[in-house]
Amino acid sequence: MTSTVPSTSLRALAASLPSSFGMWEASGWTEASSSETLPLCDPWTGEKFTEVPAATIDDVARIVRTAQSVFDNRSWSGLAPVQRGRVLIAWADLIEQDADRLAVMISREMGKPAHQARDFEVASAVRNLRWYGELADKLTDDSPRGLHDSVALVTREPVGVVAAITPWNFPISLAMLKLAPALMAGNSVILKPAQQTSASSLRLAELGSLAGLPDGVLQVVTGRGSIVGTALSRDATVACVSFTGSTDVGLRLLGDSAVSNGKTVSLELGGKSPNIIFADAPDLDHAIRTATWAFTFNTGQMCTAGSRLFVEKSVYDEVLRGICEQASSLTLGDPLDPTTDLGPLSSRSQYDSVLEYIKSGVDEGAKLLTAAPGAVDEDRCLLAPAVFAETTSSMQIYRDEIFGPVVCVQPFQDEAEALRLANDTDYGLGAAIWTSDVSRIHRMARGLDAGNVWVNSYEEGVPSTPFAGRKLSGNGADKGTYALDKYSHLKTTWIAL
Ligand code: NAP
Ligand code: MG
Repeated sequence: MTSTVPSTSLRALAASLPSSFGMWEASGWTEASSSETLPLCDPWTGEKFTEVPAATIDDVARIVRTAQSVFDNRSWSGLAPVQRGRVLIAWADLIEQDADRLAVMISREMGKPAHQARDFEVASAVRNLRWYGELADKLTDDSPRGLHDSVALVTREPVGVVAAITPWNFPISLAMLKLAPALMAGNSVILKPAQQTSASSLRLAELGSLAGLPDGVLQVVTGRGSIVGTALSRDATVACVSFTGSTDVGLRLLGDSAVSNGKTVSLELGGKSPNIIFADAPDLDHAIRTATWAFTFNTGQMCTAGSRLFVEKSVYDEVLRGICEQASSLTLGDPLDPTTDLGPLSSRSQYDSVLEYIKSGVDEGAKLLTAAPGAVDEDRCLLAPAVFAETTSSMQIYRDEIFGPVVCVQPFQDEAEALRLANDTDYGLGAAIWTSDVSRIHRMARGLDAGNVWVNSYEEGVPSTPFAGRKLSGNGADKGTYALDKYSHLKTTWIAL
């Protein structure tokens, strides 16, 4: 995909980003009480381009107190739903107008090609935010009919203070999947973005304020996850932690809830998604192109990455050849260049981690069919996509979420074997099937232990469909009306007549 904005203007925007950011609190920009800051580094240039405050535990406590008092004063929670909806829609408009700047920020923070950040990620954030804004005044409460001498009202109320803790791979769109429904429901929200993508989240909040979010309704606290994230997840005032990130951290949050106030913990975690191509796929070339996209998009740093590819034996050689050709033809390079398909890995440590996995695959005896480990440009954190054949289910590259452009391709004999292989994972986030057989579509879709099943497609969705994982991929759901459960309390009011 090519950009309509000349790369020169994206470069000018990239060069004009502020050299430091504050946190976003009720009073506007603030520093950490320690005055400590953390550098944000561009993985493409290797240079620090800005810095953000490193909040302390005391800063978090202050920010939570503000959130609770703003909730209590009803400046947001007390508005009519239609008024909240109008602000969210105005916010979506401002984000849309600011799309290039946000895209460039994301690009510098974690290396995503700016045209993809704008056309996929920012666009998705705008779409979801608008959807919730428009939904705000269309929901109704319940009441059971036919009660002779009583009336029962089943209503929903905001929970109070929601903490959203988010990862760096899709910083804006994933944050918005939490902010929009939590705010629509009337809560006060504290966003703790991943350290390395804090700047774009801060800009998002600034735009929210310009759109009319009252002071303190949305605050952004920056700093180390181990300090700031833990302080939020152990705070006894925070009513809900809505988390997207790694399985390790997610599971820890359940423990933090248990030792504090039993807060709701909603988890969207890792994945190792199976992509299954049958010989009767309606368009094998399309399946091959999409399968390549599924493990390389965002340089493979995608929770739903199709990182295990299963192919029916009779077309295995053809598909494997096609995947290698497609993967090798992708343009790797400068994230500000509109012709770039894959940017660098998000950081030096992410590059090292993915490279270690590729080497471990070779050491364990898998056959690497594309470029040698480490090929391309180490200084730029650029890594060529790695296609592995002859993998076994005990290999690390087959079992672990790598979060890089690495795929294990394996043949299968029949449907039963495909299903067994697909479900042989600790994760349960996404799965895809390619086939023309309607009965098989239904059998496979029912059998796959995953929250999202795509048939003859990959990664499809609209704002109204839930996005949920199972097993070690998480609990609960983002998107649609389903997301609202965790951001609202149910109340039954029973009236005897
Ligand atoms: P991560 O290391 O788990 O970090 C996620 C967030 O948690 C960051 O804001 C991080 O802050 C914070 N954090 C770290 N330690 C914490 C602690 N002890 N307590 C509370 N918060 C803490 O994940 P990541 O590396 O940013 O993102 C990659 C992971 O996210 C992958 O596993 C991917 O599959 C998953 N993911 C899942 C989905 C989904 O919807 N299921 C979507 C996208 C990504 P710092 O940055 O300051 O450490
Ligand atoms: Mg991490």
